[in-house]
Amino acid sequence: SSNNLQGYAPICLGLEDFYIRRLYLRIQDCFGRPISSAPNAWFDVIERYSNDNNKTLTRTTKISRCLNLGSYSYLGFAASDEYCTPRVVESSKRYSPSTCSSRVDGGTTVLHNQLEKYVAKFVGKPSAIVFGMGFATNNAVLPALIGKGGLIISDSLNHNSIVNGARGSGATIRVFQHNSPSHLEEVLREQIAEGQPRTHRPWKKIIVIVEGIYSMKGDLCKLPEIITICKKYKAYAYLDEAHSIGAVGKTGRGVCELLGVEPADVDIMMGTFTKSFGSCGGYIAGSKELIQYLKYTCPAHLYATSISPPAAEQIISAIKVLLGEDGTSRGAKKLAQIRENSNFFRSELQKMGFEVLGDKDSPIMPIMLYNPAKIPAFSRECLKQNVAVVMVSFPATPLLLARARICISASHTKEDLVKALEVISQVGDLVGIKYFPAEPENQ
Ligand code: PMP
Repeated sequence: SSNNLQGYAPICLGLEDFYIRRLYLRIQDCFGRPISSAPNAWFDVIERYSNDNNKTLTRTTKISRCLNLGSYSYLGFAASDEYCTPRVVESSKRYSPSTCSSRVDGGTTVLHNQLEKYVAKFVGKPSAIVFGMGFATNNAVLPALIGKGGLIISDSLNHNSIVNGARGSGATIRVFQHNSPSHLEEVLREQIAEGQPRTHRPWKKIIVIVEGIYSMKGDLCKLPEIITICKKYKAYAYLDEAHSIGAVGKTGRGVCELLGVEPADVDIMMGTFTKSFGSCGGYIAGSKELIQYLKYTCPAHLYATSISPPAAEQIISAIKVLLGEDGTSRGAKKLAQIRENSNFFRSELQKMGFEVLGDKDSPIMPIMLYNPAKIPAFSRECLKQNVAVVMVSFPATPLLLARARICISASHTKEDLVKALEVISQVGDLVGIKYFPAEPENQ
């Protein structure tokens, strides 16, 4: 049953209360079926993703090809790319799919070093270290950076990998209200007196952790204000750019570029390769000293098998496309396309009367359903018309804040988006989730 539950909550933010989980499994949909057994695109086994950059997926059940509105492949690099794919295939032959060794025991290939150089260059930091898994990056790096006697101040909507890493570090954890710089400052003031030198505080170290774009709400971090506060109270800023690197900013450099923050002002830059870069793994970018320290001390660098060489090649190639080093302007076009697609889709949904969360330019747009019993009907009706949407609910969100989460990609064409809007509009009427009056057509 916990697998069923995860179908509705692909990203679980940690569950404390086993009994609430059991209660959730008993909730029935509008047709009297337990919602845990109702159809959902993400219960299915996927037979294949299309070779048109993950835009469609083929399910093993009777509904076959669907327009994929759930993939994190924001730039459409996943599945197949004219520049990346041949290089990935070649690297698989040259280095094999796995190094079968840790970074320090023969698992560092030319590609690994090249990847770290490219990541540092792309995000604007002196140095970078890469790991085989994004989740494990937060999970293993936080305990390497801070421990007992340290203080972590974490946004209330931070991803489970951060929550787990923070807990595993042994540091004291305080949570501030989601994306609220004023509450962050209040929490900091409670912990230290303003202007106190680092050495005179009760904490050995303070790390403030935020995300660039929050995956449950699609909103952008209030990074400029948060950085000002971190500087004022001499706390380190840790930024997880899983959903923003490559997805936003004129040249794809994430929220720093979009919001005008200097990368030098973010002490620890974290990100994953599983979204915009169409690969797997994660990175930390920062000062030379920070990265060297992690290379000597972080267990996930010392004891885990290094990132798969073809996965590393996929990331290097994708970054090269974004930098224009493939000799084309495809990267710039992809970035312009995702912005245009996201802003078009969001504003059309709003005009139809849906309550859509998130900010301009964000490719994540949750549509609020509120009532979790509406989830199966929404998902099923969209699937009937070959549109696959990820549904998110408890425990990833509070029980009565269920939502459908749309992820837009640069590989969606205007026709795809128009078709998806028609389907979502019809299903929205059927399920009753247009909470605002629709705008008149001729306005
Ligand atoms: N950080 C954030 C903010 C995420 O949303 C995710 C997963 N979507 C991760 C880290 C973990 O990354 P990965 O899936 O690449 O392991």
